[in-house]
Amino acid sequence: MVEGCCNCSSVTFAIDIDPKDIFVCHCSICRRWTGNNGVAVVIVPKDKFRWITGEDQVACWTKPNADWQSWFCRTCGSALPGVNDDTNMFVPAGLIETSTTNLRVAHHIWAGSKASWDEISDDGKIHLESFQN
Ligand SMILES: [Zn+2]
Ligand SMILES: [Zn+2]
Repeated sequence: MVEGCCNCSSVTFAIDIDPKDIFVCHCSICRRWTGNNGVAVVIVPKDKFRWITGEDQVACWTKPNADWQSWFCRTCGSALPGVNDDTNMFVPAGLIETSTTNLRVAHHIWAGSKASWDEISDDGKIHLESFQN
């Protein structure tokens, strides 16, 4: 099990598995969300994810005309876990306490639209667009 929290500690959560694969999305929408080169997340089955405190502090924003939503803390603005699809949550990897995990970057997605200054230099598999097995 691993745990994580936002910067103000209002929102805390637990994952009942030891996640390993990090997906880094380099698309322009994720870049604006984080202000960074994209967002690094792990994908977790919904039944392995639970909020511990502060679920009422979790805000969600849906981008108009796009299949994209962001979740964030109402108080401190930290990126937070959200719904990935019908069966999975995504969890921003930077929130996870890393001391007990084997996390590593496994996949880069939307690398074809990454920022010009963004250099991919780890062993993650590069996908120019969305994830393909
Ligand atoms: Zn917070
Ligand atoms: Zn993205």
